[in-house]
Amino acid sequence: MVLYVLEEGLAGQQELGGAVRWWLHQSLTDLQARLSARGVTLLLRRGDPRVIVPDVARAVNAGGVHWTRRYLPWTCPVDAAIKADLKARGVAATSQTGSLLVEPMAVKTGTGGPYKVFTPYSRALRPLADEAAARVLPEPPALTGAPLPPGIDTGQLADWSLLPAGPDWAGGIARAWTPGEAGARDRLERFITAALRGYGEGRDFPARPGTSKLSPHLRFGEISPRRAWLAAAHAATANPALAGDTAKFQAELAWREFASHLLYHFPTLPVANWKASFDRFAWRDDPAGLKAWQTGQTGYPIVDAGMRELWTTGWMHNRVRMIVGSFLVKHLLFDWRAGEAWFRDTLVDADTANNAAGWQWIAGCGADAAPYFRIFNPVSQGEKFDGAGAYVRRWVPEIARLPDSFLHKPWEAPPLVLSAASIRLGVTYPRPVVDHARARQRALDTYAAIKAGGDGE
Ligand SMILES: Cc1cc2nc3c(=O)[nH]c(=O)nc-3n(C[C@H](O)[C@H](O)[C@H](O)COP(=O)(O)OP(=O)(O)OC[C@H]3O[C@@H](n4cnc5c(N)ncnc54)[C@H](O)[C@@H]3O)c2cc1C
Repeated sequence: MVLYVLEEGLAGQQELGGAVRWWLHQSLTDLQARLSARGVTLLLRRGDPRVIVPDVARAVNAGGVHWTRRYLPWTCPVDAAIKADLKARGVAATSQTGSLLVEPMAVKTGTGGPYKVFTPYSRALRPLADEAAARVLPEPPALTGAPLPPGIDTGQLADWSLLPAGPDWAGGIARAWTPGEAGARDRLERFITAALRGYGEGRDFPARPGTSKLSPHLRFGEISPRRAWLAAAHAATANPALAGDTAKFQAELAWREFASHLLYHFPTLPVANWKASFDRFAWRDDPAGLKAWQTGQTGYPIVDAGMRELWTTGWMHNRVRMIVGSFLVKHLLFDWRAGEAWFRDTLVDADTANNAAGWQWIAGCGADAAPYFRIFNPVSQGEKFDGAGAYVRRWVPEIARLPDSFLHKPWEAPPLVLSAASIRLGVTYPRPVVDHARARQRALDTYAAIKAGGDGE
């Protein structure tokens, strides 16, 4: 028997966002079907797992309980309490690593502490990851499912109301993804055969299918990062020309590990500036600016394309996440936590560690972060990474008829060019909500004010 607990009310617990709740519903539906085909029941419960797990173990007369270890600030004490409780009742409790390549506490600096800088961390991780990935096991041929004792309620997924209640905003997400283990394996296979070659360069161009899109599957445990690491390693062994692309892909998996490593050792990562000097930063509060950013109406095409891709599909390309993130915290001077919250609600891969680390990195206040003065220019980023405009034209169709030379800066197009493209700036597509050069200077001035007081690290 398999038990899934929808945790609620734990101290410090982060709420699940809407897109993640949608995915969870689909993923559990898939799991239920796969287990049922093997004669195993999936039991669904919601509430405090410290109460539920021992209760269910008693009710089904379990000889042992197994689970995948978790490393979030609010799950570590809960899992430890469950383990102690089960052991006190004479029930064997066993937890395994599954969601990460290597446990966050297993990668240590020479003095035994946590890493704060990615490059040495990834160097230390690599041999441990190779070794862990080599231990990946095939799916067990058979699962033995003892029949449930009579009278046990299996629970109803529909009762959890994970799907959108009002307007169904998830249509685009449903079209873009196949949640579940088969979908995850299919993604990995397609990536290894079609996109691993050239990944190192192709991963930066949002119009290309150049990345694996494994992130939500990894987020939900539908595939293990060890399997992804191993699949790329095998591809490079079979074809040594893929060694560079494989190393790059594995480095991205290592960023995922690094984020979990940071969160494990620094549990305030999702809520507090890593660099305390940023506590003095004069963030702005501008509801209209935030709304324009969230809805893809900033007047900067690459930013708007990314925000609309996110809203429609629940995912956004990494290059564009960096551009839209930089725009929110530097052009609009928003506290990175506003961006973190929006991503948490709208991303299907929303992950406490990756999201917080990504936002702190882009805001310049995180561990091993981009320097604050690195302010992405949304026009030159667009021209560099979407030069032919396929990405912007897909997501911002109202400006699709602009020639490439003005696509990333419609406000510079002469009136005749705009009218030939059926665009009325400020009517059919917004004028820029801020001027790039002025916004850049304002960000640098605001940063100079906190820098005078030191970094506070
Ligand atoms: C502001 C911001 C917020 C982010 N929030 C999240 C989030 O909530 N959840 C999430 O999974 N990723 C997040 N990322 C990281 C990254 O954008 C996504 O993991 C990546 O775009 C997923 O696409 P992919 O699976 O095709 O990646 P690939 O390029 O195929 O990479 C393979 C895997 O490596 C991991 N990975 C890749 N890049 C990163 C990275 N920079 N940091 C951590 N892990 C990485 C992911 O698990 C990904 O699936 C964020 C990045 C930024 C800049």
